[in-house]
Amino acid sequence: MKRTIKFLKIIAIALTIIIAIMFIKFRPAYSVSLNGEMIGYVGDEKEFKEKINENVLDSEEENVAFVKLDNVEYNFELVNRNEVNDDKVLVALEDNATNVYRVYEVADLNNENDKVYVNTMEEAEDLVASLKENYNEIEPDLVINTIYLDDVSEVNDENIKLAKEKMTANLQEELEEKQEKESRTVNGIYLAYTPVTGRITSRFGARESIRSHTHKGIDIGAAGGTTIVATAGGTVTYAGWNSGGYGNLVKIDHGNGVETYYGHCSKVYVKKGQQVEAGEKIAAVGSTGRSTGNHLHFEIRLNGAQVNPQKYVYK
Ligand SMILES: [Zn+2]
Repeated sequence: MKRTIKFLKIIAIALTIIIAIMFIKFRPAYSVSLNGEMIGYVGDEKEFKEKINENVLDSEEENVAFVKLDNVEYNFELVNRNEVNDDKVLVALEDNATNVYRVYEVADLNNENDKVYVNTMEEAEDLVASLKENYNEIEPDLVINTIYLDDVSEVNDENIKLAKEKMTANLQEELEEKQEKESRTVNGIYLAYTPVTGRITSRFGARESIRSHTHKGIDIGAAGGTTIVATAGGTVTYAGWNSGGYGNLVKIDHGNGVETYYGHCSKVYVKKGQQVEAGEKIAAVGSTGRSTGNHLHFEIRLNGAQVNPQKYVYK
């Protein structure tokens, strides 16, 4: 009995010593892992999270929207006191954190490749306002989007300048296309095609010995057999011989009171009543009727009256 008590005392003393040593050498702490990889130990999870907020996630740098930090996990453990080091873990997290920057994108919805990234909302708004004012005729569809980027090295003065110039050039091109199209439009009918390529040999209104009245169309000199195309889509209302001087003649009704005449043709490829598309082959250049050489006599009529074709094509 006495021996047993003595033995238990020894055990108790031994345990006390072991526990005392453990508390001197070890302490409860948290192991911290980043994306599953252990990077060190910290004393207190809550306290350490505050340190992260203050030192890692709160960037003073310009344009930083937020700081991105990968998945951080904490595990409660009994740890050798010497290994608990908040500062060391903080530095490791700082090294892993990445800044996410906020920039503003000015985008042209009609031209999805055309984008300008600028640093401030004010700059974006100024750009949109000035482009809308300068190109209000084509009503540019410009929007501002907030964009988050890990890397803003490309958003520098030089690139901003180049992107603005590109966007401006594209809008200018759109404006010129619209103006060009409008200038080739008669009462809503767009004369997309030049009927034949050649040299103007007689203008609208010219007085020449071959006719008693002024010239009611334009003449375009071209080799016999050269293809003539419809300047716009429409219905063929005449296709064949005309004894009034036009020779072989094609007339096309484009709607809205707009008609075109193609005279002196050597060949006619269409029939009365046929629908033709803009640019479709309708006849070949010739010298039939009252003509002194191969050319196309081209007329545009609006509500029956001839208008100067050079107001719209062959300018
Ligand atoms: Zn003529």
